[in-house]
Amino acid sequence: MKKKYIRIIGFLAIIILFLSIPIIHILKTKWNEDDTIYSIPKGYSNDASQLNLTKVDTIIQVPKDKIKIESQLRDILKYAKENDLKISIAGAKHSMGGHTIYPNGIVLNMLPYKQMKLDTNTNILTIGSGALWEDAIKYLDKYGKSVAILQAFSSFSVGGSISVNGHGWQKDLPPISSSVLSFTLMKENGEIVTCSREENQELFKLVIGGYGLFGVILDVNLKVVDNLALQYKYIKLSPENYVGYYKKYVSNNPNVNLVFGRLRISDKHFLEEATLNFFEKVETKIPTLQNVKSKETQRLVFRGSVNSEYGKRLRWDLETGMSSVSKNEIFSRNELLNDHVSLIENKDKSSTDLLQEYFIPERNFNHFIHDIKPVLKNCKIDLLNITIRGVRKDQDSFLNYAKEDVFGFVLLFNQKKTTEQEAEMKHLTTQLVDIALKNEGTFYLPYRLHIDKKRMRKAYPDANIFFQLKRKYDPNEIFNNKFYLHYK
Ligand SMILES: Cc1cc2nc3c(=O)[nH]c(=O)nc-3n(C[C@H](O)[C@H](O)[C@H](O)COP(=O)(O)OP(=O)(O)OC[C@H]3O[C@@H](n4cnc5c(N)ncnc54)[C@H](O)[C@@H]3O)c2cc1C
Repeated sequence: MKKKYIRIIGFLAIIILFLSIPIIHILKTKWNEDDTIYSIPKGYSNDASQLNLTKVDTIIQVPKDKIKIESQLRDILKYAKENDLKISIAGAKHSMGGHTIYPNGIVLNMLPYKQMKLDTNTNILTIGSGALWEDAIKYLDKYGKSVAILQAFSSFSVGGSISVNGHGWQKDLPPISSSVLSFTLMKENGEIVTCSREENQELFKLVIGGYGLFGVILDVNLKVVDNLALQYKYIKLSPENYVGYYKKYVSNNPNVNLVFGRLRISDKHFLEEATLNFFEKVETKIPTLQNVKSKETQRLVFRGSVNSEYGKRLRWDLETGMSSVSKNEIFSRNELLNDHVSLIENKDKSSTDLLQEYFIPERNFNHFIHDIKPVLKNCKIDLLNITIRGVRKDQDSFLNYAKEDVFGFVLLFNQKKTTEQEAEMKHLTTQLVDIALKNEGTFYLPYRLHIDKKRMRKAYPDANIFFQLKRKYDPNEIFNNKFYLHYK
């Protein structure tokens, strides 16, 4: 009898220990975090990389008001010319290569310029370029509408998103450009022009994905779509089957509206497992949009995967386990699109999270995974995530990263803020870009400037013409930033 009790107690102790390991891991992650907020010293600017701290001349908040902004921007342009200063334009500053910064230049903070109005007859949203997607989502939700295309998070500005020509996880769509009908642009001489597929077509193409080099985008006309009730579906699969399953379950299913894939990144089964997550339209009442909820446990599970094989396995197991639990759950489209970047916030001051993206044609999907596997496995930078998105051919932007239908591989790394890790990251990026080029792909431009001009031109063969046209429209190179300095 006594032996039996001992066995039961032993068994229970093992179960409790087994269940408490993940809890202890998550608590330890929280315990090790530094809660002091990262702040930028006065007179300096930085971006989401936290590696671009740069002294600037002035940071100017633009006014909210349409009439005031126009006269203020003209005054700033005049002042900049008279004092031989450059102007960089900033939205939410989530680009990572100093795209919003010029050393000792003037920074225009566009965020206050965020008014919006929906024309309910035409379903066209007119929106200030400083507005964040989260503001647009909240506004449109009241009309039963939704943003057509935006990135994975809603924390970015409309102007910044158009200027990088972002892409999202909306099913089989081109980048944001395809939802832009027109915008007004203040040029270097203070003139305001309307750019669309019919008017000033060349500028329209250059400004979309033009990294703030041709003028200040003011008001944007965007196509919007209906908000929907969407039901979550999920498949666990081998990466080799991804393209086939994607076609079968996503492309060929007219009800699918949002979709993303993920690759397993723990050392165990490294890039050997994948998930395909998609959301199907259902005819039911659309859930009400809630305020963005704090998802602290989800954030800690994510942060707990930094430099931890255990944490990476735990995250994969929890995510795939949770996917089975939340399979068939119904969400509103707006709620799904309204995720904030704080969901993955890094509170460790000694490191930073850096993104990279590679766009690969379907025919080379598996070759690309095969080629990056040994490089990523052996690199000294910690890989945190790989997401996969389908991006359709972009017909609009001049500096085009999707010249045909592609799959975007979004890689997130955690890098220490040391010169060694910076050099390591440069080496890794060069290797990954070479692999993308070998597989007839391209890389995304809003991130760190580790790629040389030669490789950049292989991915973007029209870059020389792009920079010549920059000088045609802005001969004094007033609109300037570190991206231009690096690649021109
Ligand atoms: C965590 C994270 C997740 C991301 N996910 C995605 C994703 O899913 N898909 C994707 O495509 N990208 C993604 N990105 C990249 C992101 O889309 C870009 O960095 C985008 O520029 C962010 O918008 P922003 O408002 O922060 O732009 P900023 O960084 O402020 O500006 C970007 C560029 O736009 C120019 N600009 C800004 N406003 C104006 C204006 N009014 N007129 C003219 N030029 C202007 C700037 O000069 C700069 O060159 C992600 C980035 C992060 C950090």
